[in-house]
Amino acid sequence: MSTTTRDALPGRFWHKVTIPENTAGCWEWTGTGNGKGYGQFWWGGRMRLAHRISYEALVSPIPDGMVIDHRCRTRGCVNPAHLEPVTNRENVLRGDLPSASAARQMSKTHCPKGHPYNAENTQHRADGARACRQCNRDRVKARYWAKKAVAGTPNTTPAVDAAHTNEASR
Ligand SMILES: [Zn+2]
Ligand SMILES: [Zn+2]
Repeated sequence: MSTTTRDALPGRFWHKVTIPENTAGCWEWTGTGNGKGYGQFWWGGRMRLAHRISYEALVSPIPDGMVIDHRCRTRGCVNPAHLEPVTNRENVLRGDLPSASAARQMSKTHCPKGHPYNAENTQHRADGARACRQCNRDRVKARYWAKKAVAGTPNTTPAVDAAHTNEASR
């Protein structure tokens, strides 16, 4: 990358970036992150995402409604060659959402029914998701009673009828 292009961003930006010898690699952001793996940089009077700044300064402004997708899937990367503006929907389809929703999921302390995700009540599934043991038990119980109710119907109904018949014939 030429010096002129680099001048589009201040030295304090570059101080926070590790550019590998092979510039086709990821430019690793070493500054502060936003807790989700994305770099943050103070720019234009506010904290902004470092990779968006990099793209805007070194490539072009990001059109409204577009999000910057990391083609390298490395969130801390600010190499504009790895960044591509996509619609939010494309980004979702490319798989950023499952991890985002998994993160949201992990931040929950209770299941949808309000049972706590504590050590005893949390079942960790193979895919990394959590399940509520209490809800599992409730579901099993509900299935059991549903089955019992269905199984009981043919036996009880004739018995009741028979009793009525007897009553009437007496
Ligand atoms: Zn990268
Ligand atoms: Zn539950």
